[in-house]
Amino acid sequence: MVRNTFLRALRRLGKRYVFNPYHRSKLNAAHFPPAVWIENTNMCNARCVMCPRDKHTRPQGIMSMALYEKIVSEIEKNQDAVTRVHLHNYGEPLLDKDLALKIRLAKEAGVRQVYFVTNASLLTEEKVHQYIAVGLDEFKISFYGTSPETYNNTMVGLDFEKTMSNVKTFFRVRKALNAKHPRVLVQYLPQPHNLGLTEEFVSMFDDMIDRTLGDSISIFNLHNFGGGRSYRDTSSPACTICDYPWRTMVILQNGLVVPCCMDYNGEQVLGDVNVDSIAGIWNGTAYRQMRNMFKSLNYARYPVCLKCEHIR
Ligand code: SF4
Repeated sequence: MVRNTFLRALRRLGKRYVFNPYHRSKLNAAHFPPAVWIENTNMCNARCVMCPRDKHTRPQGIMSMALYEKIVSEIEKNQDAVTRVHLHNYGEPLLDKDLALKIRLAKEAGVRQVYFVTNASLLTEEKVHQYIAVGLDEFKISFYGTSPETYNNTMVGLDFEKTMSNVKTFFRVRKALNAKHPRVLVQYLPQPHNLGLTEEFVSMFDDMIDRTLGDSISIFNLHNFGGGRSYRDTSSPACTICDYPWRTMVILQNGLVVPCCMDYNGEQVLGDVNVDSIAGIWNGTAYRQMRNMFKSLNYARYPVCLKCEHIR
């Protein structure tokens, strides 16, 4: 106990006085965000127990094609700066009937990596063909159980057998087409609800994925989502510079911009792409102020950050 407390204190001092000064010296904001997350929808067909969507008071919807095209056309003009576009945030991206078209437009705009996270419950064979055809680079499947019972203890409202069948269909079709993309990351989240059956989970997918194409299995940890849940202790003072404002912009389905995916309810708004450009917001006062404050570990103006585990 005493030893753990001592080690934790030592780790915090190391972060504050060794890592942070080095990190701070390396932080330079490019003229455009390297990664842009576009929340195509914040609606979902599941009610996963660890997801704070149940606390959303912000509007629910699917991003309009007009707004999406505005965003992508600016990304196209800055394609050298953009390495990734994520087509998800809070919600199930496959609920968007225009998802394949949105992926195609992002690829045509020169985005190197187009990616989304899905629960795969709506991943029909037709959609698999569409996503391969339009050039999707990668996607992650959240699959949080090893049996109908353990799966539904976490992923409430979905059907284990149906989703597993969709996942198998994806791998079958990609192989039959001899397609090299998209690569897939299958993610597990061990927690008491699903009995934490990590080894069982890995063996379930190990033979299904193709590591030669870059597929992998990820075992993830629970988040607090900036106060949306309380799995982690965030009582200690911040000791880490969060670098999200230097590397990522998250655009919510209604066009408001927030710094990261932890801000589940869109509280820390930094701009609105309906009325401003991505570059204008990225280089604007709100972002510059956030970067300056983060550099000095001052998160006082940011209520979501104050409850975030990433800076402890
Ligand atoms: S401190 Fe946490 S909530 Fe704040 S921007 Fe960073 S990751 Fe997001």
